[in-house]
Amino acid sequence: MEITAFENSLDFAKNLDAQDKLGALRDEFYIPDGMIYLDGNSLGLLSKRAEQTLLNMLQSWKNYHIDGWTTGEEPWFYLPEKLGRMMAPLVGAEPEEVIITGSTTINLHQLAATFYEPKGNRTKIIATELDFPTDIYALQSQIRLRGYDPETHLISIQSRDGRLIEEEDIIAAMTDEVALILLPTVLYRSGQLLDIQRLTEEAHARGIIIGFDGCHSVGAIPHYFSKWGVDFAVWCNYKYLNAGPGGVASLYVNKKHFGRIPGLTGWYSSRKDKQFDMEHQLTVEHSAGAFQTGTPHILSMAPLMGSLEIFAKTSIEEIRIKSLHITQYFMQLVNEDLLELGFTLLNPTEDSRRGGHISLHHEEAVRICKALKANNIIPDYRAPNVIRLAPVALYVTYEDVWKTVQVLKAIIHNKQYEAFDSQRGVVA
Ligand SMILES: *Cc1c(COP(=O)(O)O)cnc(C)c1O
Repeated sequence: MEITAFENSLDFAKNLDAQDKLGALRDEFYIPDGMIYLDGNSLGLLSKRAEQTLLNMLQSWKNYHIDGWTTGEEPWFYLPEKLGRMMAPLVGAEPEEVIITGSTTINLHQLAATFYEPKGNRTKIIATELDFPTDIYALQSQIRLRGYDPETHLISIQSRDGRLIEEEDIIAAMTDEVALILLPTVLYRSGQLLDIQRLTEEAHARGIIIGFDGCHSVGAIPHYFSKWGVDFAVWCNYKYLNAGPGGVASLYVNKKHFGRIPGLTGWYSSRKDKQFDMEHQLTVEHSAGAFQTGTPHILSMAPLMGSLEIFAKTSIEEIRIKSLHITQYFMQLVNEDLLELGFTLLNPTEDSRRGGHISLHHEEAVRICKALKANNIIPDYRAPNVIRLAPVALYVTYEDVWKTVQVLKAIIHNKQYEAFDSQRGVVA
């Protein structure tokens, strides 16, 4: 970790906020009075612009009825492509390589159905034991659909310490039996950032297709998917991208794969000028748009437009600079004030391996999270004993971070957590 001397005081935190280049963007968001929101890695906050673009979309339905598909300020028929072009700079993609469609899980199914082409000896898929469960469930069913057994065909890279995955271990598993690799960009618990470029190069050197799940990184970290030659990626837009609960997701497909027949086709896989010819012979669209299936969920993608306007006021590189700085600051305060109280840091400390959140372990994590909420600080709990805290660059302040550490100290010192039970909530 970079040695940075942060002073451990409220004044110093306020001074950091005064120098924060992104500070003004906080006003774009609705932040409940007195609340410190550290759960933007699960559900980002509503912005005024996202609210407005959603209301505008309702208005266009009211005003234009069926004609809204092709007329009005934002013709719905072209909205997934338009938002894809707005998203592209955040992931280092060319404009036609990104489309807004489906959910992360459905997009995983779509792209696994497309890119998992078991042939001869090459029939296996690599994932990791620390993956988000939906990724594993999707891969298991794709393997079953091809008539193979997930027990033998899904290779799960093991963690050496239960929190990190070593790139060497993934590379060592890239044998000539592997047809496809799907990896997280950032691991959802420990916040470890994998070396996407290196893994892509190693996979390609062995003739293996590689895709990434960017749910925990897009909007917090720059990616250069095109330059790195990543084959495909999926991510959700409701975490760091603040597009609202259940907001429509994104996918990226490298242009070298354009023209491929999607594994799951529908009439929206069609070239747009041919779609309404209503032919039974599909003419596949020559862009990431081919990987859509049916009618886009216009109202559920509307807030993303406002949200992306905010990202366009800065750059993902600037966002990463603040994110690294504020997480460094957070880690230093944890080291100084919290280690002696039974907390340990689970996230990698190096900038090159760290995502957008910090991850703390504590035996009493469930009750501590409940006590934080009672103090108007919103953390993110992962069973059995992980507390994830995301100081999201667009709307969390250094003062928020400093206060959170003070509150955590008080919760342990005064045994405040003992007032709560240790049952986790249904959504946690
Ligand atoms: C949040 C998250 C998902 C969620 O998938 P949905 O289809 O939106 O429910 C998937 N993968 C990862 C890594 C996530 O963090």
